[in-house]
Amino acid sequence: DKKVVLITGCSSGIGLSLAVRLASDPNREYKVYATMRNLAKKERLLECVKGLHKDTLEILQMDVTDQQSILNAKEMVVEEQVDILVCNAGVGLMGPLEVQSLDSMRQILDVNLLGTIQTIQAFLPGMKAQGQGRILVTGSTGGLHGLPFNELYCASKFAIEGACESMAVLLQHFNIHVSLIECGPVNTDFLVNLQKSELGDMSLQQADTRTLSLYEKYLQHCGFVFQNAAQDTEDIVKVFLDAIQSSNPSFRYFTCGDIPPLIKLKITEPDGSAYISAMSKIIFSDADQ
Ligand code: NAD
Repeated sequence: DKKVVLITGCSSGIGLSLAVRLASDPNREYKVYATMRNLAKKERLLECVKGLHKDTLEILQMDVTDQQSILNAKEMVVEEQVDILVCNAGVGLMGPLEVQSLDSMRQILDVNLLGTIQTIQAFLPGMKAQGQGRILVTGSTGGLHGLPFNELYCASKFAIEGACESMAVLLQHFNIHVSLIECGPVNTDFLVNLQKSELGDMSLQQADTRTLSLYEKYLQHCGFVFQNAAQDTEDIVKVFLDAIQSSNPSFRYFTCGDIPPLIKLKITEPDGSAYISAMSKIIFSDADQ
């Protein structure tokens, strides 16, 4: 029997690549329910699988912020069980904290945090009843250390760490494995989408000039990092596959292999000042301090 996989956020990026890889598995081991908020965006996914995988791929509408849409998607799973749940949908929010509207802050917490949690809530009783399951969550190094101009994004991803670690402790008693796939920068629409929305944002002008010049510096740093160190979605998919295929998956996987040095620094220097000055140096190195 095929393993039933349900993935959120499959219209682009990591979710799309993972859905394509699993649906076109040479051993046809997986039945993939690729879900997306907006079905109008399904062409990209369909093009990637070239219509060859009718029995391994189903595309469903699912907005992770809408409980009814999660339940509707769950109803559409003909196997009536999900073996592997991949919570991948997520958004970013960047810019000076003082210009963020309450609505945009709510929105990112709604998608990244409550969206992930309520998706898991919907499928958890089924997994417990089955006596087995895998929950994989796309995590971020921004969930392990803070980043300037990303307060809400990091808050949402830090919160995911806490939620998942808490679940992992309990769910091992139900033969359900929780894994976080911790990504650094990945070549997806993620940053492009973000910057598009920021540049046209008049509210940015409310920030003081010092903040704006540091923000510009940060954006340059981001551009540089994405150009030089970003991974491709295929690299991320390999790590997902490792976790999926392992009989005893780890709780955390770092997509770049090793634990990033800055995260080690947080652990070895727990008072935090070494991390803060190292990160500041990396990002704002030639800013006048
Ligand atoms: P992406 O923007 O291509 O993919 C995110 C997907 O989530 C999109 O398809 C989007 O439509 C979907 N989505 C947004 N709101 C949704 C909602 N309410 N319901 C359902 N789907 C929704 O970018 P990506 O890089 O593939 O992002 C996937 C995950 O990876 C995110 O959780 C992101 O935080 C995480 N991540 C990305 C990076 C990176 O550099 N790209 C780094 C670390 C972590």
